[in-house]
Amino acid sequence: MQKVDKIYFDIDGVLRGTMSPKEDVVALLRYCLDNYGDSLYWLTTHCKHGINHAPEALRGELPDELVDELKVRVHPTDWENLKTEGIDLDSDFVWFDDTMFESEKQVLSANYVLDGFFQMNPRDPEMAKKALLFLKQFNQD
Ligand SMILES: [Mg+2]
Repeated sequence: MQKVDKIYFDIDGVLRGTMSPKEDVVALLRYCLDNYGDSLYWLTTHCKHGINHAPEALRGELPDELVDELKVRVHPTDWENLKTEGIDLDSDFVWFDDTMFESEKQVLSANYVLDGFFQMNPRDPEMAKKALLFLKQFNQD
């Protein structure tokens, strides 16, 4: 993967319920909004079956203005069983999640896009920082 076209965000264990300091989570989202503003997607149980509850899930966790901006700018995905149903597998994507099922891993592998999955560890206080550094390496020019 040489570039990033789309970014998919899980919420629990990634943007909330994580030991990463809140300011690091905010910095990660700020960077994404500033650099991939039209290419951000929810990939979370809070946004399923075409119904988007992601902003409500983050309300109170992150600054209100940021949640308002995310509400307008982050696109919903429609998936039922596997999160991979919501991913554009033909794109160069990054999927930030703390969990991936074996069945989802098989779909990514079969499409040669397993490197799009970025494992977030909610117990690692440096996690949001590491995710930001990962994204920054694609924007060095
Ligand atoms: Mg999760």
